[in-house]
Amino acid sequence: MPRVAYVNGRYLPHRQASIHIEDRGFQFADGVYEVIAITDGKLVDIKPHLDRLNRSLGELNIAWPVTRRAFGLILGEVIRRNRVSNGSIYLQITRGVAPRDFAYPEGLQPSLVIYARSTKKASVATASQGHAVVSQPDIRWKRCDIKTVSLLPAVLAKQAAAEEGVADAWFVDEDGIITEGTSSNAWIVTPKKEIITRQTDNLILSGITRQTILKLASGAGLTFTERPFSLEEAKQATEAFTSSSTALVKPVIEIDGTPVGDGQAGSITRQLIEHYLNYMDNPS
Ligand code: PMP
Repeated sequence: MPRVAYVNGRYLPHRQASIHIEDRGFQFADGVYEVIAITDGKLVDIKPHLDRLNRSLGELNIAWPVTRRAFGLILGEVIRRNRVSNGSIYLQITRGVAPRDFAYPEGLQPSLVIYARSTKKASVATASQGHAVVSQPDIRWKRCDIKTVSLLPAVLAKQAAAEEGVADAWFVDEDGIITEGTSSNAWIVTPKKEIITRQTDNLILSGITRQTILKLASGAGLTFTERPFSLEEAKQATEAFTSSSTALVKPVIEIDGTPVGDGQAGSITRQLIEHYLNYMDNPS
């Protein structure tokens, strides 16, 4: 079945889906995006994702390209036309098309691109497969709370990881503190079974999966704290994992070549995977 993408008001076959060369997203990475998981045809945590999109747009003074209600309808239509029952939807809004100039004119019509991708529905077995990460210096700007399409530091860090034969990288700041993954939030479990993830501020993206996991952990009576943790502390953790809308809860079993705990998905991580997969079946 041919894949269909939505581009500025039209549903197009992927091969014909394109944007203008003077789109500011292409020229300056002047745009924002969201990625939302789809389970059994339903969008997981749609409201917080659209709230975060609204915030990203507001911080950059970009208008919604269509009303929020129309937006929801278009998302549904892209899912329907691509017959996605499990997978994810990617949407990007840029400031729009204008002659190249760093400063932008008022009143541009923002560009909107949406496409969906099918994947196999995650099971506890597939979701529990761990992966190794390497640390990489966090060279990003100081507004990582905005979900912009400006992702070059993540591209370079993930490429460096790939060249070391490892799946992903965790960013480390100048003080040796882990900020987050290239496209995920970072978590550890201490020897005292306390779940730790960094507090949200301007230096990380406030993950929607992160928020949901905190709620699920709280509901399950697990102990957690939002505080900074260093690379050294992470290497001595009993468990580690990442969270994101695409990788869900993903065990991290090795950091810079050091096995985390016994080098397998830990018991708290497994519990959170089960809670999260159940939640995806019935998102609130
Ligand atoms: N941090 C970064 C830098 C990311 O790119 C992502 C994924 N888009 C996340 C965290 C996780 O966010 P979410 O749980 O909303 O997918």
